[in-house]
Amino acid sequence: MLSQKSKKGKKSWSAIVLIILITIAAYISNVFSEQDNGQKTSNVSGELKVHYLDVGQGDSIIIQQGSAAMIIDAGNPGDKGTIVRYIDSLGIKKFDFVVGTHVHADHIGSMDTVIKTYEIGKVYFPKQTSTTATFKRFVDAVSAKGLKLHVPVVGESFLLGEAVCTVMSPKGENYKNSNDYSIVIKIQFGNTAFIFTGDAEELSEREMLQGDLDLRANVLKVSHHGSKSSTTEEFLRSVNPEYAIISVGKDNRYGHPSEEVLYRLKNAGIKVYRTDEQGTIIIVSDGKEVTINK
Ligand SMILES: [Zn+2]
Repeated sequence: MLSQKSKKGKKSWSAIVLIILITIAAYISNVFSEQDNGQKTSNVSGELKVHYLDVGQGDSIIIQQGSAAMIIDAGNPGDKGTIVRYIDSLGIKKFDFVVGTHVHADHIGSMDTVIKTYEIGKVYFPKQTSTTATFKRFVDAVSAKGLKLHVPVVGESFLLGEAVCTVMSPKGENYKNSNDYSIVIKIQFGNTAFIFTGDAEELSEREMLQGDLDLRANVLKVSHHGSKSSTTEEFLRSVNPEYAIISVGKDNRYGHPSEEVLYRLKNAGIKVYRTDEQGTIIIVSDGKEVTINK
C-alpha cells in the first residue's frame, strides 16, 4: 500500500512539474517573439511616436513611448517658439532624456530653453566643447538645473518606456570634423527600429560598420541634412531602411540635400520624406510596423 501510494505521489508530482514547465514555456513564447533576423525582442504595448519637427535648416526630434519622452536636438536659437509650442501641444511636461547630438547651433540652438522650460531627466552630450555663445547658454542651462552632461558610450543602452535605445556612435574622442562627434542612437521598439544620426559623417559611419552593431532600422534620419559627406552606400546597405527622413531648410545655402544622397536613397528604393517639403513628419510604430502620418 505504502509503496503504491508513493508511486502515485511520484506520478502526480511529475504531472505538476510538467504543467509548470508547459506554463513557463508558454509564457516565454508569449513574451518573446522571433524577429526576422533571429533576434529575440520583448513584445511591447502601446506605440512609439516619433516627431521630426520642421525647424528649417536644423534638427529637432521628439520621441514618445507611453508616458516617457525624449528630445534629440533642438534646432537653431530662433526655433525656440516653434519647439516649445509643439512640445506643449503634445502635453509633455518632462523629458526623461535629452540628447544634444553635437555642438553646432542648428542642433543645440534652443536646447537651453527646453532645459529651462521642462522637467529634465538625463542629458546626453558627446565629449566635445566650443566657445560659441550657443554652447555656453546650453551648458549654463544644464548646470543651473543641477544637471550634468553624460557622455554616452557605444553599446550603452537605456529604456524609454518599453523602447530600447542603444548608442551607436561616437566611438572616438578626437575627431577633426565636429560632426563626427554626433551621438547616433538606435531605438528598438518591438520588431521595429529607428536610427538617429545627427550630422555623423563618413568616418563615423565607417566606425559603426566596423563594430558588431546591428544597424538595421525601418526608419533612418538621414545624417547632416542630406550632405554628400554622409549616408554612404555601405552604411545605407547596413541600415536598409524603408523610410528616410531628411530634416532640411528650404533653399538653404549649403545645397542640402545633395543630389548624390537623393540618388543613393532612390537607387536603394527607400521612400524619402523631407521637412522642407512635408513640414513636421510623424511616424508611429506599434512594435510590428511603422506608419507615416504624412
Ligand atoms: Zn546640422
